[in-house]
Amino acid sequence: MRTKTFKQGIHPSEEKELSRDKKIESIPLPSKVIVPLSQHTGAPCKPLIDKKDAVERGQKIGDVDAFISCPVHSPLKGKVISIEKHPHPTLGEAEAIIIEVEEDEKGENRWSEKEVDLSSLSPEEIRKRVREAGIAGMGGAAFPTHVKLSPPSGKNIDSVILNGCECEPYLTADYRLMMERAEDCLFGLKAIMRATGAQKGYIGIEDNKKDAIKIMKSLTSGENEIEVVPLKTKYPQGGEKMLIKAILGREVPSGGLPLDVGVVVNNVGTAIAICEALKKGKPLIERVITVTGKGVEKPSNLLVPIGTPLRDILNYCGLKDNAKAIIMGGPMMGISQYSLDCPVIKGTSGILVLTEDEVSEDEEQPCIRCARCVDHCPMGLFPTTLAKLVKAERWEELGEYNIMDCIECGCCTYVCPSKIPIVQLIKWGKNEFRKITS
Ligand code: SF4
Ligand code: SF4
Repeated sequence: MRTKTFKQGIHPSEEKELSRDKKIESIPLPSKVIVPLSQHTGAPCKPLIDKKDAVERGQKIGDVDAFISCPVHSPLKGKVISIEKHPHPTLGEAEAIIIEVEEDEKGENRWSEKEVDLSSLSPEEIRKRVREAGIAGMGGAAFPTHVKLSPPSGKNIDSVILNGCECEPYLTADYRLMMERAEDCLFGLKAIMRATGAQKGYIGIEDNKKDAIKIMKSLTSGENEIEVVPLKTKYPQGGEKMLIKAILGREVPSGGLPLDVGVVVNNVGTAIAICEALKKGKPLIERVITVTGKGVEKPSNLLVPIGTPLRDILNYCGLKDNAKAIIMGGPMMGISQYSLDCPVIKGTSGILVLTEDEVSEDEEQPCIRCARCVDHCPMGLFPTTLAKLVKAERWEELGEYNIMDCIECGCCTYVCPSKIPIVQLIKWGKNEFRKITS
């Protein structure tokens, strides 16, 4: 049988061998952590503490009364030294709580693991605990998870897909989580199924992670309602719409969401965070990230407290002399960083350091109408037309070409021989289009 996949997409060099065999390890305690009040899609939190307050590890320190939002917690024990605007990895700058870290005699013992019978928890109770734990999608989008687990009335969810693709080149954190914490992944998947009422669960894994597929298959061998689905290694296989098409053959309609076709998709890291929230009552205060790239001395998969500054992490892993660019996330969808004071946030999947040789400074050339961008767009869009409309600032016409369906995967930019920054233009166009339509 052919391995399942979707149409279009690209095959960038994988580069995962730098870190794939590095077991997850912890880093030394940072001296301070920076906890942005906005780490998720939706309303930013308001601080629940004041300057000079002592805070415990896991204490809720920010929240807001809005459905699309989730609280933030202190990742470590310490003292609040300020609440101020601070460099943010995706927003440029945002309000953050800055905590001076103290030694914590209780440490991880603060949370003891209890066996949990999921059938004893109502869907509402699971959603409540997920929200209180501040869980937001850990694959990058950081959408509040309790919202995803709350389908509106009239929307019947029959399937949950756990995304174990990690299709971005270089990144290996999700792979390590599946290798080292497979049981927690599976528990998280079952909790999501319980919360949404789905009868079927799928774990989609690209076929370049054969040992993760093997572990998950052996763990789920007696589970009729759960299936591990090997998928072709192709970017962006881990996009929600691509996963749904590849695994279930369903098309999410233009402008629609996975729940419109009866599906909820979550990342494997998110499933583990849900497991920890339900079994231990532990909030999302740390996460696994990959630190990698040819500009790093010691590529690693690290468990780091949320709020740890990039500087501490890169000091631990070491920067090579020819390191040139720092990207938060992978090379396709990641965001260039201009300040090492930026902290790790809930959606940070990795830190990639590129060398001087890898950073392209090719000048943009005119479009030669080769249509490569059209041939590779996984959403079936016309990227070249969208880019031209944005350059001409013809905002009102962007809707005719479904600009809001763009998933910002970057395939068009990757294949463009004229080095046109198509995805950057489309992001700008989406912002402008939102302004005239909202
Ligand atoms: S137009 Fe959007 S969805 Fe299509 S390839 Fe470019 S970035 Fe990806
Ligand atoms: S790939 Fe680049 S050069 Fe080719 S049609 Fe698209 S924008 Fe033009």
